[in-house]
Amino acid sequence: MNKVSFEVQGRIAVLRLDNPPVNSLGHELREALVAELAHANADSGIDAVVLIGSPAGFSAGADIREFGTPKAAAYPNLRDVIGEVEQSAKPLIAAIGGVCMGGGLELALGCHYRVAVSGARMALPEVKLGLLPGAGGTQRLPRLLGVEAALNLIVSGATVSSDKLRGTPLFDAFADGDLLQGAVTFARRVVAEGLGRKRVRDLTLDGYGAEAFFQFARNTIKAAAGPYPAPLACLEAVAAAVERPFDAGLKRERELFASLMLSPESAALRHVFQAERAASRIQGVPDDIPARPIRKVGVIGAGTMGGGIAMSLINAGLPVVLLETQQEALDRGLANIRRNYQGALRRGTLSEAGLAERLALINPTLDYALFRDVDLSIEAVFESMDVKRQVFETLDGVMQQGAVLASNTSALNLDAIANFTRRPQDVIGLHFFSPANVMRLLEVVRGAKTANDVLATAMRLSKTLGKIAVVSGVCDGFIGNRMLARYAAAAHDMIMAGALPQQIDAALEDFGMAMGPFRVGDLAGLDIGWARRKRLAAEFPDRDLSNVADALCEAGRFGQKTAAGWYRYEPGTRQPAADPEVSALIEQYRRKKAITPRPVSSQEIVERCIYALINEGARILEDGIAQRASDIDLVYLNGYGFPAYRGGPMFFADQTGLHQVVRSLQRIAAQPGSDVGVWTPAPLLTRLAQQGQTFNGFKGSAK
Ligand code: NAD
Repeated sequence: MNKVSFEVQGRIAVLRLDNPPVNSLGHELREALVAELAHANADSGIDAVVLIGSPAGFSAGADIREFGTPKAAAYPNLRDVIGEVEQSAKPLIAAIGGVCMGGGLELALGCHYRVAVSGARMALPEVKLGLLPGAGGTQRLPRLLGVEAALNLIVSGATVSSDKLRGTPLFDAFADGDLLQGAVTFARRVVAEGLGRKRVRDLTLDGYGAEAFFQFARNTIKAAAGPYPAPLACLEAVAAAVERPFDAGLKRERELFASLMLSPESAALRHVFQAERAASRIQGVPDDIPARPIRKVGVIGAGTMGGGIAMSLINAGLPVVLLETQQEALDRGLANIRRNYQGALRRGTLSEAGLAERLALINPTLDYALFRDVDLSIEAVFESMDVKRQVFETLDGVMQQGAVLASNTSALNLDAIANFTRRPQDVIGLHFFSPANVMRLLEVVRGAKTANDVLATAMRLSKTLGKIAVVSGVCDGFIGNRMLARYAAAAHDMIMAGALPQQIDAALEDFGMAMGPFRVGDLAGLDIGWARRKRLAAEFPDRDLSNVADALCEAGRFGQKTAAGWYRYEPGTRQPAADPEVSALIEQYRRKKAITPRPVSSQEIVERCIYALINEGARILEDGIAQRASDIDLVYLNGYGFPAYRGGPMFFADQTGLHQVVRSLQRIAAQPGSDVGVWTPAPLLTRLAQQGQTFNGFKGSAK
C-alpha cells in the first residue's frame, strides 16, 4: 500500500502520510513522499502542496526499528527528504495536528509554511534516546523560536502543546476548524498573494548575547546531564546554528549526531526503549487476545504493600475494596494511606479535591462479602503459606467466576498458591515493588496453569497503572530477587574478604547503581533478613546461613529505623555516616570465621557484584524464567536502581563482550574459597560467548 496518498483540491495538491499507527518515517514512506512531491511539482495543474498526516497526527518521527539497519541510511534518508521538501519549486505547507515529534517536526520545519490546530503535541525528544535531532532540527528551530526557547525544547525533549507556541514564527496560521481545510485555504492565500516559498534556512538568527548565554547554559547542562553526552551535544549544535552559515551548521549537527549514535549511552537508551516495547509481548499468547475487564479491585492486607497497591489502583481511578481481618490493622493501613497523600498535598502534587476523590474510591472492610463483585483480587498478606492458603480458599468461595486472583508474594510458590483454589487458571502473581504506588516495575508471575487471557489482563492493568510489566516464570525470587540474592552474596563476600560497607557502596554507586547494597539494606531494615535466616536455620539445621549482618542485628542495629545499621544516622536524617563500631563488628566477625582480611579494589567489587547478577541472569534466561534478556534488563533498571545509561545487566554484559565476562567468572571461580557452583559461568553464557553471540540476540523459549 502506498504510504503517501495524493489528492487534489482545485489547484492544491494534498499529500497525506499514511503509515499507521503514527506515521513513523520509515523508508517506504520516505520513498513515497519524494515520489508524490515530484508528481505534484511536475503537474502544471498544481500551484501549491499541503502535507498532512492522519487523525493520529502529522508524524511521530523516525522509525526506531530501522536504527542501525541499512534501511535507515538508504536513499532517501530523512535529510534527503527534507532537502527535497525545502527545494520544492511549489510552496509546501505542513498541516500539523496530533503528534508532531522528532523527525516529524523536522520534516515540518523543512516545509515553507506551517498551519497547526490547537492541541498538537510538539517535541524534539531525541535527547531521551541519547541523541540530538539530526535532520536539521537544531538549525531550523532556533531560527523560528530563538536560541533560548529552541534550546530548552531540544535539551529537555519535552512535549509542548501547539497552543503554547501559538503566536511564534513556528506557525504561520492556526486552523480553528478542520485542519485540512484551514491548510488548503492558507495555501490558496499563498498562491493568490504570490507569497512564494519561505524557507527557514534563509532566516537570519540574531546572535546578540548568544555567547554569554551559551556559556551559562553549558555549565547548567553539564551539571544536570550526569554521564550523558547528548544534552551538551544538543547545545553545541544549537551554538553552531548561531555561529556558522546554515549548511556548515547542518554539517556540525551531523557530526555531533554521528558521534552520539556511536556512544554507549545512546545504545543503552535505545535498547531500553525497545525493551519496553518488547516486554508487553508474551510468548505463546496472541497479541490480540481480549483482556478481562477490570472495573473494581479487592486488596487483601493493608500493610506496606497492600496500602501502596491500593494507592496505585485508586490513583488510576479504580475503585478498591480493602480488607483486613482486624479493625485496628485496617485503621492503621488507612491512616498510612491518608498520611502518604497528605505528603503529596503539602508538596503541591495533589489538590484537596484530588485527595477526597481518591479516598472516596476506597471501601475498607473486614468482610469478604464485598469481594463478590470485584473483577480482580490482589493478596498482600503476611508471607506465610498457611495464611495465603486461608485467603485463597476464602476468595475461591466468594469471588465470581471469571474474576482474576492475584498474589503479591515475593518468594512463595505461585503454583502451590493457585492450587489452593479450584480455578488455578485464574491465578497469577502480581509482584509489586515497594513503595508500590511509586515503583514502576511489576513482575507478572505466570503460573503453570495461568490462562492466557489472565496474563493479557495483568499486562493491560499494568498499563492502566502506568507501570512496566515483565513476565516471570515461577522460581524462588522470580527474576529480580533471584538475581539480587547473588548480588547481595557477592557484596557479603567482599566484606568478608576485607572491604567495608562504605567502600562497596561507593564502588557500586560509581558504577552507576542508584544506591549501594548496604545503604539499601539500611533503608529496607536488616531485621527482616535476620528473622528469615533464623527461621531457615531452624528448618535446615545443617546449612550455614550466618551473615555478618547477624552481628549488627544482635547489637540492635536494624538500619535507618534504629538510626544505626551498616551506617550511623544522626537523629532525624537519612544521611549515612561510616561508623567505626561497624568496622569493629566486622573485624570481630572475620576473626570468628578465621578470615584474614586482604585489600579489595573497587574494580574487584564491581566485577564480582555485577557479574554475579549477569551469571544468574543467564541461568534465568536459559531456564525460560525470563522470556528475553531485555526483560531482565527492565527488571533491574526499574526495580533495582541499575543505571539506564548502561542499559541493564544483560545489555552491559553484551557491551562488555561475553568472552570477557566468561573469563572473569572463571578466574573468580578458580580463587580459593569461591563457591564454584555460583561462579562457574552459566552454560548459556559460555555457549553464547563461544558462538560470538549476545544475550540480546538470543531467542530462547520460555517455559
Ligand atoms: P505487612 O506485614 O506490612 O502487611 C501485611 C498485612 O496483611 C498486615 O496489615 C496484616 O494485618 C494483614 N494480614 C495478615 N493476615 C491477613 C489475612 N488473613 N487477611 C487479611 N489481612 C491479613 O507485609 P508487606 O510488606 O506488605 O508484605 C505483604 C506481602 O507482599 C508479602 O507476601 C510480601 O512477601 C510481599 N512483598 C513485600 C514487599 C516489601 O518490600 N515489603 C515487596 C514485594 C512483595
